[in-house]
Amino acid sequence: MNDQQLAGIGMTSQRTRNRLIQRLRERGIENQQVLDVMASTPRHIFIDEALAHRAYEDTSLPIGNGQTISQPYIVAKMTELLLAAGPLNNVLEVGTGSGYQTAILAPLVKRLYSVERIEPLLNKAKQRIRQLRLNNVSFKLSDGHWGWEQSGPYDGIIAAAAPEKIPQGLLDQMTEGGRMILPVGGENQSLVLVTRNGDQWQRTVLEEVNFVPFLTGIKKS
Ligand code: SAH
Repeated sequence: MNDQQLAGIGMTSQRTRNRLIQRLRERGIENQQVLDVMASTPRHIFIDEALAHRAYEDTSLPIGNGQTISQPYIVAKMTELLLAAGPLNNVLEVGTGSGYQTAILAPLVKRLYSVERIEPLLNKAKQRIRQLRLNNVSFKLSDGHWGWEQSGPYDGIIAAAAPEKIPQGLLDQMTEGGRMILPVGGENQSLVLVTRNGDQWQRTVLEEVNFVPFLTGIKKS
């Protein structure tokens, strides 16, 4: 993709993107840094060309392998919640998917580690992040149940797939004072914020959400 395609035109132009940012503001997103990164990130490069004209609608869209790119409002909300206690140094993302959430988080944190269980999705996401010249991200093909222990502990963890129960591996890899934001549940899911104080993990249940399930094992094609 060349610079012109990155910049977008018509339904992918800056003007169309700005309308999405206006909508996010109306829905209650207040963190200006988050809004600025979302305004400057080309979401249309994270989805198939056939769907690119819908890239700046506030909806999730299919990305293949039965997965979806998250809804912009949810990406903004989760990022805002993760950053709410101040800047983050070492962050783990579970469920890279298209790499869109990765691209929003990378400029806002010092170091980002992202794991995905489906190899073809991970490979495409890596290319897009490289193309956007975001150099503080490392990727791994892995089942997020185990986190990414070697690079931890993390002062922020974010997951884009919903486990029925929060994996112990992720709780263990939080720093003291760390924050984790993820959807939890089966048919009915809620966004949950976990904060760690010493050996206490406090859970706060936020709004209802609808994510793909947090699955086990890796998939090579
Ligand atoms: N934020 C991403 C969301 C992608 S959907 C985006 O906007 O594109 C969630 C992703 O989580 C899917 O790609 C799915 O394959 C992945 N996933 C589900 N269970 C996982 C697990 N146990 N480990 C790693 N990734 C997982």
